[in-house]
Amino acid sequence: MNQFSAIDFLYEAEKNRVLGQNTCLDCGGSLEELVNELFDTRYGIDGTYDIRRCVECGLEQIYPLPEPKELRDLYQDHYNFGGEKKTLYTNMRGYFLDSFLYRLWMWSDGDVSFHSRKGRGRLLDIGCNEGRSLKIFARNGFEVTGLELSEEAATMARADGFTVHTCDIGEFQPPALYDVVVLSNVLEHSLAPGQMLRDAARVLKPGGELLISCPNSRSWQRSLFSRSWINWHVPFHISHFSTDLLDRLLRKAGCTPVKVRQVSPGAWLASSLIVLAFFRRGKPTRELRNPLLFLLTMIAAKILLFPFLSMANSTGRGDALVIVAKKI
Ligand SMILES: [Zn+2]
Repeated sequence: MNQFSAIDFLYEAEKNRVLGQNTCLDCGGSLEELVNELFDTRYGIDGTYDIRRCVECGLEQIYPLPEPKELRDLYQDHYNFGGEKKTLYTNMRGYFLDSFLYRLWMWSDGDVSFHSRKGRGRLLDIGCNEGRSLKIFARNGFEVTGLELSEEAATMARADGFTVHTCDIGEFQPPALYDVVVLSNVLEHSLAPGQMLRDAARVLKPGGELLISCPNSRSWQRSLFSRSWINWHVPFHISHFSTDLLDRLLRKAGCTPVKVRQVSPGAWLASSLIVLAFFRRGKPTRELRNPLLFLLTMIAAKILLFPFLSMANSTGRGDALVIVAKKI
């Protein structure tokens, strides 16, 4: 998180976990095996996971579903401030996000985080973390509010003057409805993605916009990189979506997709390449946090693989789904 809103949600969702272990997390349909023996390629976390697909609706989900307590500890250790504070990497990222270079990069890379979107009205960023995106959305004209389960991250965002609520979207009762709700790389962390979309729609005004980005289950890079694909991200990514599936889930939530794009972010591509080159099982891939290596890999890969990425995006096989939906 913007992916952090899953922490307490997962913690409280043990019932869903048990129910969903052998059935689809959304429709309750039965599951078929799809991919076996995936492992964490970022932090060196032990354990292997499979991906199973619902024969009814096509939702792909991790198997076994991780224990909420285990996940909570993992989020604490590896995401947010438990993992990283004021390192060279995070400092450089901060400078980059404030720069003209970043706006230029978004223009060429596809803007998977909706940071180039300008507008007015009330905006809710679900899983806002320490408020990195809130700053950008506010600069772009919105009146912003964040939702964040990590108290530590929320405190940091509040120190910058933002209103941040620390509760799950399912419990959130806003004082007024929103014009825009953002779910940027959050949905795939949810144990109940359909319900999360319905809750996001619930806090939107009629005609309001729901902005969603997530990995694409039909991505060419997923096939190409196999177990090194950065977006398997076990055990944090619980489910995987195709355009068709998200379209159906959004309509069930009372929203109509109005703009559906696919992009292949350079950062995701660089991450998969670095994992492919450096990952050793059971060890953290520290090279993912080497700013110079990361930047050079990202730029070189974007330039060299530009035709491949462009073709993937235009044929439904890009690495990320970027969707704007309107509440009916
Ligand atoms: Zn299903």
